[in-house]
Amino acid sequence: HADTAMYRAKDAGRNNFCFYNAVMGERNYTDLALEHGLRQAMDQESLYLAYQPKIDVDSGRWVGMEALLRWQDVDLGEVSPADFIPLAEKLGLIESLGDWVLDQVCQQLVKWQEVSSWLPQVSINVSARQLVDSSFAERLFKRLESYGLSAELIELELTESCLVLTEEDVQHQLLRDLKAGGIQVSIDDFGTGYSSLSYLRKLPITTLKIDASFIRELPENREDEQLVRAIIAMGQALGLQLVAEGVETPAQAELLQKLGCPVCQGFWMARPALPEQIGAWLARVDSQQLWPDFSQLVSK
Ligand code: C2E
Ligand code: MG
Ligand code: MG
Ligand code: MG
Repeated sequence: HADTAMYRAKDAGRNNFCFYNAVMGERNYTDLALEHGLRQAMDQESLYLAYQPKIDVDSGRWVGMEALLRWQDVDLGEVSPADFIPLAEKLGLIESLGDWVLDQVCQQLVKWQEVSSWLPQVSINVSARQLVDSSFAERLFKRLESYGLSAELIELELTESCLVLTEEDVQHQLLRDLKAGGIQVSIDDFGTGYSSLSYLRKLPITTLKIDASFIRELPENREDEQLVRAIIAMGQALGLQLVAEGVETPAQAELLQKLGCPVCQGFWMARPALPEQIGAWLARVDSQQLWPDFSQLVSK
């Protein structure tokens, strides 16, 4: 399993490198252009959030949605967060960018609340560097309070690499504070890092998000199916909720449901969508909080 994770991580790195070379030429030039563009984007507000639903394919319920940062640059075009988030981290811009994201989500939740009596939980991606600030939890609670929002509406997504912590670490205490205050925490891209069972057991988290690389070749790849089975078993043993990322086909959704991970997120259920689209979906949600296009989804 560890070998597979390492291989995948290297693979992802290689793809990134190819992207830089093929699309933008020299990496140094690219970083400079991105840096300049990113600083401008933060000033000029050419950043926005898209929201991608999470659906429980057992019940048909719309259980949540993930906020995903978007940057549409005049010169560079649409820049992927997979490229500019690491850069923002490196440049020390992620703290202010992260605060901006939190504010945007709060404002958006308030707007949606005006048109809908029910809202699915919104997950927000958080970088390790944001958690270095020990006041993170306190500031988040204050922010939610100032918007009049309940903590249950928010979930934070952290990657495994961001969580190589000991129980004594400030970040570990921070996770406990978040949980105590009603904020759920999930582990993003699960399976690509090195968390051990005993380590996960001690972490105050609620959900594992199975990385898309394990889903991509389902249902054909038997080895991946075994890995997914193992992750689901591990999650269940730890009493954690599970979400599958990158679900692109009905066959994948069906298999995941069969294996015990009915909560799916991916292009098959819905692509990341603009707030207006989410608002339109919210307007169609019934009292059972069913995903409005669920019947279409299962009959597609
Ligand atoms: P992530 O948190 O693992 O988000 C999932 C990524 O998979 C998103 O890419 C999403 O658009 C994409 N995706 C969803 N369903 C499918 C599918 O069925 N097939 C495929 N091929 N892809 C799918 P995106 O939006 O480009 O984001 C990339 C990464 O950037 C995120 O990975 C997250 O780590 C980071 N990121 C995005 N927004 C933020 C943010 O506000 N703050 C921080 N710190 N990181 C962010
Ligand atoms: Mg995420
Ligand atoms: Mg992920
Ligand atoms: Mg990711």
